[in-house]
Amino acid sequence: MQLWCTENETEYLGLTTRVKETLFAGKSEFQDVAVVDTYQFGRMLVLDGVFQTSIAEEFVYHEMIAHIPLFIHPNPKKVLVIGGGDGGAVREVVRHDTVEKVEMVEIDGLVVEVSKKYLPQISKAMLENNPKLDLKIGDGIGHMAAAENEYDVIIVDCSDPIGPGEGLFTHAFYQNVYKALKPDGLFVQQTESPFYHQPLIQRLSKDIKDIFPIHEMYLAHIPIYPGGMHCFTIGSKKYASKDVDLSNRQKLETKYYNEELQKAAFALPNFVKELIK
Ligand code: SAM
Repeated sequence: MQLWCTENETEYLGLTTRVKETLFAGKSEFQDVAVVDTYQFGRMLVLDGVFQTSIAEEFVYHEMIAHIPLFIHPNPKKVLVIGGGDGGAVREVVRHDTVEKVEMVEIDGLVVEVSKKYLPQISKAMLENNPKLDLKIGDGIGHMAAAENEYDVIIVDCSDPIGPGEGLFTHAFYQNVYKALKPDGLFVQQTESPFYHQPLIQRLSKDIKDIFPIHEMYLAHIPIYPGGMHCFTIGSKKYASKDVDLSNRQKLETKYYNEELQKAAFALPNFVKELIK
């Protein structure tokens, strides 16, 4: 028998991959959680039917959501990751020598448990109890509302803006992010596909511009996300991508991220510039 797994990208489009084996399928208080072993991408985490990350291509997303903002900030010491239950983002964050502490606030303990069991390469920092990492199971929205002047960099590694992730894409949330950052802090959020999620991106860009003096967007190519073209949005109080000088910064071994991309990833096609102007 052949088993296939489809993520519905829109009402009219899906991404389908052939499944070798379903390793886990369960339900938490927040969402359906599954890990499937696929022929194309290896093991893949799926939440509420949406592809989150896979062994074959996770490096693109995790390197790009972590290294780009951590190198824009000249000396990031305290970092917060909201979401990111698979552990891939914190695995990359702890590699930065400047980073002394990374707090991670993930709403769903089941995602963390399942990732540690079935995706050990991705959840490495969580599995090894990395001493820089302080992992809390809780709602990132409430955590952000309570924080003030604490973080150099905040990484919002969230799922789609439905279910528990919905409140992470609002004006009120971005105001709390601003308040939680130090006076020269910056944040990044995964902001979906510039092709398929245009109303969302327009709205959040407007909200972020309203609050932060610097708003920027960069792209990466992620095979399991709608259209393969994925965007990340930055709100920054002081530092901009064009001012980054990597000459005296740590050199990291990476599979996707590199020094050219630190600036080149911010080059946007005209339709994307138009979308966020
Ligand atoms: N790379 C992924 C993507 O874009 O599809 C995101 C990965 S990570 C698995 C997303 C995580 O955000 C999920 O584990 C989900 O439980 C978590 N999440 C959603 N809403 C949250 C909230 N309000 N507070 C904290 N974590 C949240």
